[in-house]
Amino acid sequence: AELGALLEIRNAQIIYDNAVEAVRDVSLSVPEGAVVALLGSNGAGKSTLLKAVTGTLHLEEGELTKGSIRYAEEDIGHARTERIVSQGLILVPEGRRLFANLTVEENLTMGAYRKTAAEMRRLKSMVFDLFPRLHERRAQISGYLSGGEQQMVAVGRALMAEPRLLALDEPSLGLAPLIIDSIYQTIDRMRHELKMTIFLVEQNASQAMEIADYVYIMENGRVVLDGPAEKMRSNLDVQEYYLGFS
Ligand code: ATP
Repeated sequence: AELGALLEIRNAQIIYDNAVEAVRDVSLSVPEGAVVALLGSNGAGKSTLLKAVTGTLHLEEGELTKGSIRYAEEDIGHARTERIVSQGLILVPEGRRLFANLTVEENLTMGAYRKTAAEMRRLKSMVFDLFPRLHERRAQISGYLSGGEQQMVAVGRALMAEPRLLALDEPSLGLAPLIIDSIYQTIDRMRHELKMTIFLVEQNASQAMEIADYVYIMENGRVVLDGPAEKMRSNLDVQEYYLGFS
């Protein structure tokens, strides 16, 4: 018997429409309490893997055709989102997907999963403590917020479900550098203060590598490189191809 990680992907193959092989033989694990980053350029297969983990592949005619995905000792490779969410695996989707015509506070409420009114109050104050800005804007319509504020709402909404594993899909996409810094500082607080396990999917390698414990890099559907973050940061290929040093 082996002690499994909280999320354990083994030899996964994912095919769309019985044709495009988007993920080829990928193995990856996210231990409890860790921050694991999955990096790679556009089209590498990162989002596909994340869709498999969060149970939304079938929406796009995608399927896990080989290998397995285990979360909290349970096989979720073909499970639907409802079941996965109920186990505490919560996604902050790429592009944030807020209810644009609802207020900040209403969006947060939408994220709460089976919570009592008292729990809801406690969770909201936890989110407002992490994002004071959202408290200031709680009555505003989300669609009118800046990109950075909308990303905060998306993260806050996920936190309302009290994730055991929080999966973030490109949280820095389209945001200005200062805002990205602040989002990443908050992710760091979430892991330290809330002891959350985090699976971070990013094209922005430098920020992700600073915060992660362990890093995987995908290209063309495969993991081409992986290792502890500090080792990866000092790897010359990583510096040249992914961090833009030369
Ligand atoms: P991005 O940064 O753009 O999200 P990615 O690394 O997440 O890139 P994926 O979106 O997972 O990459 O795409 C991996 C491969 O699967 C690409 O070749 C893409 O064209 C293909 N693909 C993605 N979604 C679908 C789909 N719904 N149907 C068919 N092929 C798809």
